[in-house]
Amino acid sequence: MNNKKSLEIYNEATKYIPGGVNSPVRAFKSVGLDPVFIDRAEGSRIYDVDGNEYIDYICSWGPLMLGHSPKEIVEGIEEVVKRGTSYGVPTAIEVEMAKLIVEAYPAIDQVRMVNSGTEATMSALRVARAYTNRNKILKFEGCYHGHSDALLVKSGSGLITYGVPTSPGVPNDVVKDTLVCRYNDLDAVRTIFKEQGHEIAAIIVETVAGNMGVVPGTQEFLQLLRDITKEYGSVLIFDEVITGFRLNYSSSVGYFGIKPDMACFGKIIGAGLPVGAYGGTKEIMSMVSPVGPVYQAGTLSGNPLAMHMGKKNLEILRDRPEIYEELERKAIRLEEGLKANVEKLGLDYTVNRAGSLVCLFFTNGPINNYDDVTRCDVPKFNKYFEELLSRGVLLAPTQFEAMFLSNAHTDEDIDYTINASYEALKIAHN
Ligand code: PLP
Repeated sequence: MNNKKSLEIYNEATKYIPGGVNSPVRAFKSVGLDPVFIDRAEGSRIYDVDGNEYIDYICSWGPLMLGHSPKEIVEGIEEVVKRGTSYGVPTAIEVEMAKLIVEAYPAIDQVRMVNSGTEATMSALRVARAYTNRNKILKFEGCYHGHSDALLVKSGSGLITYGVPTSPGVPNDVVKDTLVCRYNDLDAVRTIFKEQGHEIAAIIVETVAGNMGVVPGTQEFLQLLRDITKEYGSVLIFDEVITGFRLNYSSSVGYFGIKPDMACFGKIIGAGLPVGAYGGTKEIMSMVSPVGPVYQAGTLSGNPLAMHMGKKNLEILRDRPEIYEELERKAIRLEEGLKANVEKLGLDYTVNRAGSLVCLFFTNGPINNYDDVTRCDVPKFNKYFEELLSRGVLLAPTQFEAMFLSNAHTDEDIDYTINASYEALKIAHN
């Protein structure tokens, strides 16, 4: 594979940008390779600066439900730009966008736009803490909610129930109120609530954990979170940054039939532009400034370009429910193909899927939590990744992420991927 230009840019990039990238995973470090630099993308395809073409399963880590630059979404963006790129005073399209999200998501009455998923979760927790007048929050090991200080934690060892920072620079004091439990572990949640439930402001959870591969929350687990937060007067927050508008149009509420008190969004609601949002019941959201006392703001929040793209994306998903059916069908095709490969090669590996999120774990199942995920054979995955890349299939450069399908992926793309995956698996196990 020719990657001469990518390498040249990468060498230049490392002089001016830490690690040459603006988000760590893009450096391909975890798969032991140098990154490819992208020139352009269209539909299911992405092209690097050396002219290599890939079927793209990163899809910008989730926002691109309809693939890259779908005509019906990008059309008209020039007109929007000509009318101004940001005003700092309100616009009608922000209202239309908020209405779309609220109408789609049966558990929330109001929503506030921000610029990223990180901002959405950070702000939602601030509001939940103020609403309950409590400090402690509960998150789950292996779930990622962005990089705000209080959420960069892993579970402490032994009997320690509070989290410990996963990054230098995060003071112990900042995470001392962040409790961490094992995902899908009902007993752990019951125990922690029995001990500290009346001090817990909120549970924040990915209903399908998309940051340790694809690990769906079980129905019993998510129901317990709903019941126990009600019992103890804590706020249940679904982090829908990946799952929102992906699992189906009403997100996790439609998929699992469980309503949280608050929800966080990102990715798909911006269709590839920088966007996030958090919402909740009217009572909770009336805590937010300028109605209530909780401060939260943003120079570029509700940006007109992002609103234009996001609104069109959501309208298409709302008006064409067949997109979800198509995506489900394609994702099953991919899931079954990957499973058949694994079987043919006699490997005891696991394929998890939730809607259009798919992950091949290089270990045996079932995979229900972070401990299960850490059993994966990462060196074999890394070889598999490299072999797929050289065959024109771009996966997320880590074992611990989903394959994101878009509706631009064709059956031919998927069949090609399944065949390439078979070859790559075979070579990785030689
Ligand atoms: N929450 C979840 C579930 C995510 O997957 C991510 C990012 O991948 C975030 C929050 C943070 O979003 P952002 O990267 O837009 O800050």
